[in-house]
Amino acid sequence: MKYDDFVKIAHQVDEAKTITLCQNLVQTASISGDELPIAHLAAEYLAHAGLQVELIKHEPRRASVLAVLKGNGEKPALLFSAHMDTVSPGEARWQHDPFAAEIAEGKIWGRGASDMKSGMAALMSAAKTLADCGLPRKGDLYLALSAGEETGLVGARALIESLTNKGIQAALIAEPSANELVTAEKGALWLQLITYGKTAHGSMPECGHNAIVMMLELLRELQQSSFAHTPHPLLGDFTHSLNVISGGIGTNVVPDLCTAAVDMRTVPGQDHHQIIAQIQCLFQKLEKRLPGFKADIRVLNDCPPLSVAEDNPFVQLVAQAAQTITTKAVQPRGVRFFSDGAVLIPALQIPWVIIGPGPAELAHQPDEYVEVEKLVQAARIYTLSAAQYLL
Ligand SMILES: [Zn+2]
Repeated sequence: MKYDDFVKIAHQVDEAKTITLCQNLVQTASISGDELPIAHLAAEYLAHAGLQVELIKHEPRRASVLAVLKGNGEKPALLFSAHMDTVSPGEARWQHDPFAAEIAEGKIWGRGASDMKSGMAALMSAAKTLADCGLPRKGDLYLALSAGEETGLVGARALIESLTNKGIQAALIAEPSANELVTAEKGALWLQLITYGKTAHGSMPECGHNAIVMMLELLRELQQSSFAHTPHPLLGDFTHSLNVISGGIGTNVVPDLCTAAVDMRTVPGQDHHQIIAQIQCLFQKLEKRLPGFKADIRVLNDCPPLSVAEDNPFVQLVAQAAQTITTKAVQPRGVRFFSDGAVLIPALQIPWVIIGPGPAELAHQPDEYVEVEKLVQAARIYTLSAAQYLL
């Protein structure tokens, strides 16, 4: 088949039905922990489109969806990834009801419109377009629609087992990027530091060990530490930020416990184990210097940084598709947030891209929206990419 034939398939995406699908998804609230209704909706749509669908239950109100559009196995399989859950609409007043999916000013408004029900709708619409185009498929198209991306990537972790050994050789993740091509994602390493002391009456501090004072010493050491890394051309620098600290129960009690949480954002080339080992070295240093110093470290979140070569053939294929559909030059970029890719990509060891219709800066904000035009474009980019990869 010629490239123009693939482009023709991409233009078979049903614009009106894609918009309605996105509205239906936004109208089906799916705040993390309550993904069952949207999982049923997605499963029903995909089964109706001719895919084999499996509902993977995690908890009574929580499920992920795994669907496959089978090919004859002559070509490798492709993975489409989206998460179904959203954060809550929050306390702030919305101009548009967060679950009405109103269309105004050429945009669909609502919680998840950007992050990432528009991407999810576009992937589902692309799968349906491929199923309907009537051409024989050589490779399988997998759709992994996860629960709990916003809460520890629980759905993606549960899906991994079902996705390995399926011949999947590339992944497209529909996180919001305003249809720009993303080839690098920052890692996240969230650490809890704990210092232990010995309690005593506040009038007799010499009888105790003050856990807060220990923590201050530890944090000073941490601030002065440098963590080896090379700034990434698309992601910039490694950052760390001390974002939670708590300790003490009363003015007259020497505290025996203090905890702090540090949010580290890593770049490719950094090894999270090495960072943890470096902090443990600080403990040893302080144990020698301060009698009674005792500390511990707990990993709260561990998402490795990701990057993919811009000249990888799959990356090039999606870049060309995006350029064809949007008629704009494609300039790969990086994102600071982490996605299901942090679980899927290291497990599958495959090339990947993020490209999604929503504007990334609106994730988790009130008055979230997606531009209708970008939603339809995304469905066409996905269809064009998958058609080339699988037909
Ligand atoms: Zn997201």
